[in-house]
Amino acid sequence: MKFIIVGSGGCVCLPKPLCQCRVCVEARQKGGRYKRYGCSLYLEDAALLVDTPEDIAHALNAADVRSVERVLYTHRDPDHTLGMRVFQQLRLEFLDYYENIPPSSPVDACATPEVMEALNGISIGYGPLLDYYVGMKLAKRKLMTEALVVGGIKISAVPVDKREPVSTFVFEEEEKGRKAVYAPCDCKPFPMDESMRDADLLIVGNTFVGDTLKDNRIIGPGHLLRQELHSMEDILEIKSELSITDVVITHIEEDWGKSYGDYVALEDEYPGVKFAYDGMALEV
Ligand SMILES: [Zn+2]
Ligand SMILES: [Zn+2]
Repeated sequence: MKFIIVGSGGCVCLPKPLCQCRVCVEARQKGGRYKRYGCSLYLEDAALLVDTPEDIAHALNAADVRSVERVLYTHRDPDHTLGMRVFQQLRLEFLDYYENIPPSSPVDACATPEVMEALNGISIGYGPLLDYYVGMKLAKRKLMTEALVVGGIKISAVPVDKREPVSTFVFEEEEKGRKAVYAPCDCKPFPMDESMRDADLLIVGNTFVGDTLKDNRIIGPGHLLRQELHSMEDILEIKSELSITDVVITHIEEDWGKSYGDYVALEDEYPGVKFAYDGMALEV
């Protein structure tokens, strides 16, 4: 399986607009791995994209993605969904539209029934935003009531125990015995599902990195952030309990106050853990 981290950023892109902190200034100067688009993942074998943050069209161009046949949604938070207009950018042929030539292949918009219901709550004056693209035959809803099998890869949704529906995904290439897990956001408590055991790779977000963040803010033992997000120690525990070989941390927030260079240096402290950057290719 070949994954590409299309966007490794968090809720706020990096550089954060207006921000003059060291990390944002460096990101504007150097670009490349120093800047981050919103959080999304691409699986080349299945022409599959997970989530559509607002800047997804630019991120797809930057990662030179050539084909998207399906989009999988983890949950409805705006930082994962508000680039849904990408269905139009992927499939609309404006001149065909005026000659009544329908789009040749709508993109499958896939989610569990619970997440789909939440997605349908994202609406504009026309009703649910997704209805607009489905109506134009640019997208097609596909409910994941069971695992999807695409390009020889089985994709199963594992729900997180939250009031708001959130899915994590397990990707299995059974023929080669390879397995990857994607849990980018809102995944605490982490669903310690047996289907994730012995995964070759876990790509995980919802994690703050280090105890000292932007502007030297200290995240002490009782800090509220610890209730919402995983610490690096939590991640190492998940890795060990589920016998996961490698971990890649994504959904990296500007608030962590670290640059690409800082993350590269940190990798020495956390064996088996890497920090994502935009365009990072992961062969599993
Ligand atoms: Zn900044
Ligand atoms: Zn998020």
